[in-house]
Amino acid sequence: MGNSWTKKSLLVQAEGLSARQISSEELTRAYLREIEARDGALGAYLTLTAERAITAARASDARRARGDALGILDGIPFAAKDNLCTEDIPTTCGSRMLSNYLPPYDATVIERLTLAGGILLGKTNLDEFGMGSSTEYSAYHPTRNPRDPSRTAGGSSGGSAAAVAAAMASFAIGSDTGGSVRQPAAFCGLFGMKPTYGRVSRYGLVSFASSLEQVGVLTKTAEDNAAVLSVLAGQDPRDATTSPCDVPDLSAGIGEGIEGLRIGVLAPELLGALSPDVADALSATVEWCERAGARIVSISPDELSAFSYATEAYYLISSAEASSNLARFDGVRYGMRAEGANEAEELYRRSRTEGFGAEVKRRLLLGTFALSAGYYERYYGKARSLAERLRAQMRSIFSGCDLLLLPTAPTAAYPLGEKTRGDDPTLPYGEDRFTVLANLTSLPALSFPAGENAEGLPVGLQLMADAFCEPLLYRGARSLADTNREEEGKA
Ligand code: GLN
Repeated sequence: MGNSWTKKSLLVQAEGLSARQISSEELTRAYLREIEARDGALGAYLTLTAERAITAARASDARRARGDALGILDGIPFAAKDNLCTEDIPTTCGSRMLSNYLPPYDATVIERLTLAGGILLGKTNLDEFGMGSSTEYSAYHPTRNPRDPSRTAGGSSGGSAAAVAAAMASFAIGSDTGGSVRQPAAFCGLFGMKPTYGRVSRYGLVSFASSLEQVGVLTKTAEDNAAVLSVLAGQDPRDATTSPCDVPDLSAGIGEGIEGLRIGVLAPELLGALSPDVADALSATVEWCERAGARIVSISPDELSAFSYATEAYYLISSAEASSNLARFDGVRYGMRAEGANEAEELYRRSRTEGFGAEVKRRLLLGTFALSAGYYERYYGKARSLAERLRAQMRSIFSGCDLLLLPTAPTAAYPLGEKTRGDDPTLPYGEDRFTVLANLTSLPALSFPAGENAEGLPVGLQLMADAFCEPLLYRGARSLADTNREEEGKA
């Protein structure tokens, strides 16, 4: 029993658990059966923690039987991206470098989910250290899109997205440095949230670009997403960048619709080239906003002039920070060590040569160059001031709008190999222009499903809001998502 339950939303599963229509052990076993049946073809997971999951599920059932259930997530099976540290469970970051790494501690987000009774099913595939957009840069295997396995599930949290979309986890967490939660959510038809910088602890997230990234949430519904983020959010003494501000009720107002809200939409010059399916989804959603009583505010190219350099600034800042963060992988302290080196320098060189893949090396070279003596101001400093300018422009946009509506990616999911097999490794970078905006400005952004194209592939759009306005994002996305639109239209 239980297989039909795997496709239901987290909140419906939680009701089923509390009404004793299903036990956590049954639900967990049902997910493990789905994984067994489908993941060979999809490659969402790198490590399964089946035995631990069943033990934890039994403990959850026992708590519930005693009347001590911990809350909505108690007994709900989830997946975590493999760059989040899990005590004594492999955490590879999709890299050969960490193929043998067993962290001695849990990331704060893992700890919080465990304390809330969540059941970890396993660790999901990613582009090596989060660097990529299609999960093809995993050192292990690519992840395939459950809607069409010849296509990418997106990246870098492609494993987390495919796991939820294929009913191989109730929800999943990932990290978003430049779009890695939102773009795979868009490609797989899910809700993907990148919270405000400082909303969620990064303690135990293996760092790629510390000033840009946040842990984010992938779910089937907006309500589920708010429920998970509520557990993750809040100050953490072990991460000094977490915000001390109180976490409000994140699902407040979620069913209230968008009447009276001012929704900003980028002028065509800012949008640039979009594939027809994304352009159609955007205009249909704008129309829906108007019908639902929102006011559309057009954002002119002058108001967001710094946007045209956002991608360049993102790749400079993220590569520079990566070159510093990944310096710790030297064959001595963490990770793999090359055999047979005779002296320290050779050991570093060989361990890093063998441990890192080509994309990671490219970024480390770029980042090290950008930070080298005399160049700091010219590159990193300049990219940072561009980010500051973007932040100021976004602040002024949000003085006239409540939400900003924009594409998540310029296309739907593309065939595996399409952007990685050619001669130009920077080809996928330009596709990140809409997602990096939130990371460069620290603002929250939520990708939501906005329909399907002619081939039946999901098309995602995203909403952005001012800092710490996640409840408004959930309210907006709940109303704009195509699935809910039909429902509200009927009501
Ligand atoms: N695609 C972006 C990159 O390659 C985003 C990565 C991320 O958010 N981790 O850097």
